[in-house]
Amino acid sequence: MAGQRRHGGLNVKKMEQNQLLEQMIAQQAADNPQLQTMLAMMQQSKANKTATGEGSDTEQELAACRARLSKAIAKIKQMSEGMEALQQDLAAMVHFGEELAHAVGACTFCWGEDIACRACRGRGKPGSFEPDPALFQRFVLPAYRRNKTNLQ
Ligand SMILES: [Zn+2]
Repeated sequence: MAGQRRHGGLNVKKMEQNQLLEQMIAQQAADNPQLQTMLAMMQQSKANKTATGEGSDTEQELAACRARLSKAIAKIKQMSEGMEALQQDLAAMVHFGEELAHAVGACTFCWGEDIACRACRGRGKPGSFEPDPALFQRFVLPAYRRNKTNLQ
């Protein structure tokens, strides 16, 4: 990106220099018939080049390709950043689910819902395993106490 901008800046500078040079030559040519003829020939040659579109089509196509490419690269970058964020969210959710399963002594893979589960064969419902004391205190006790208060 920075390279392109720098390149564009150079082109503008070059164009300004060319215009300045042309002005200077035109001033010199004002009282020099030979120079006037040469200038006329140069301008004719330049006009022909522009009329036939020599080089400009390819340059335009190249510029369009570059623009499409940088757009595509920006889109890919944006999408992979989105994908990375989703993967982070998913990993966080999986970790949370595992902690909750440990807190209630359930199978971390299926919570006892899948008889084909390789870890518990569907026998890992909450309370099937020894709950993790710290996680039990963190996730279950507050809810238990709240429920107990409501029941009294
Ligand atoms: Zn299981």
